[in-house]
Amino acid sequence: MYLTGNGEWKSYMEHPGAMPIYTAREKMKQMSTEEAGQYMKNKKNQLRLIFWELTEGCNLKCVHCRATAQPQRNPDELSTEEAFRMIDEIAGFANPIIILTGGEPLYRPDIFEIAGYATSKGLRIALASNGTLINEEMAKKIKKAGVQRVSISLDGARQETHDQFRGIHGAFQTALNGARHLVNQGVPIQFNTTITTHNVQEIEQVMQLALDEKATALHLFMLVPVGCGAQLSATQMIPAAEYERVLNWFYDQSLKVPLELKATCAPHYFRIMRQRAKAEGIQVTSKTHGMAAMTKGCLAGTGVCFLSHKGIVQPCGYLPVEAGNIRRQTIQEIWEGSEIFSQLRDTANLKGKCGICEYRNVCEGCRARAYGMTGDLLAEEPFCIYQPKQAVSD
Ligand code: SF4
Ligand code: SF4
Repeated sequence: MYLTGNGEWKSYMEHPGAMPIYTAREKMKQMSTEEAGQYMKNKKNQLRLIFWELTEGCNLKCVHCRATAQPQRNPDELSTEEAFRMIDEIAGFANPIIILTGGEPLYRPDIFEIAGYATSKGLRIALASNGTLINEEMAKKIKKAGVQRVSISLDGARQETHDQFRGIHGAFQTALNGARHLVNQGVPIQFNTTITTHNVQEIEQVMQLALDEKATALHLFMLVPVGCGAQLSATQMIPAAEYERVLNWFYDQSLKVPLELKATCAPHYFRIMRQRAKAEGIQVTSKTHGMAAMTKGCLAGTGVCFLSHKGIVQPCGYLPVEAGNIRRQTIQEIWEGSEIFSQLRDTANLKGKCGICEYRNVCEGCRARAYGMTGDLLAEEPFCIYQPKQAVSD
């Protein structure tokens, strides 16, 4: 069921485009600011999203890959039985959205067993794919397994840009074909685009492509210097001032484009959103800015965690610090007891300018970029140009 703009509950069968993943957003649009604030307070430090790297095996060789993907699956990856146990554990203490990722998650032959089992346990499943393995038959299986959205990585609006990044000629067209098969089956799609010097000039065209291809959402990612991205960052990371320009552009689009737009792993977008709204005399509420008004920039360890193909739990996939291992502890024990998560849950621990910034509770800076550049996950975000005006008191 989902809540309509008229306050009526309707079945998804009546409106397949409205997905359970986004019921929170719909609900919150109906709430007063106070109700929405209380709703989010109740959700504080609840596990809301798990990025589950089912395999590091992949058919592509993307230059910015977080996972440093391999052509072969690792023999030590979690077995089907371990995956089922994991799903039981998750369903026993939380109700997060699980994003099955990789590598390429469709590389695992038991992907639909795992997705179907999680769906049968009432968990909401999304899939992060490069799209190239999705033909009509695969799209039907994805639909049948109850997957509620598939995100497809698109690193440019043109074949040359995307293929060069993906390391395989023809990857752009096969990814688009995959997206079309999904749309034909009624599976909502999202495009994920990592912004680099290589494609920053094509962002407007990427947005138009997302509209043309009937995508439900476009998520823009800022490069994080981890995995293959570490070597790439020296030449491909756009300067902080350029990020500021892109995120301001993104804010303008978010107010007018009929597409769910999200700046991901660009936590200072949440500072920019508030600065812009203030300058324009608009109050940031769930009614004016939707879910973005009620969430914050970096959720690593506070609402989000990452589970590796070997069972290692991290705050996020780009932050390679081990909070625990599900082969030794339950996911609940790790989520509730990890020292790393507890450090991330108190913004008073932040250092440098993030530590004194008045926006730190809505932004927090990217802990992975801080870690990647300094080795300290609590250091200041290196790609934010903002100079805090005042020290915050707790
Ligand atoms: S640390 Fe936070 S902002 Fe940075 S990549 Fe991870 S989730 Fe994204
Ligand atoms: S200084 Fe840190 S907390 Fe403040 S806006 Fe920049 S990244 Fe966010």
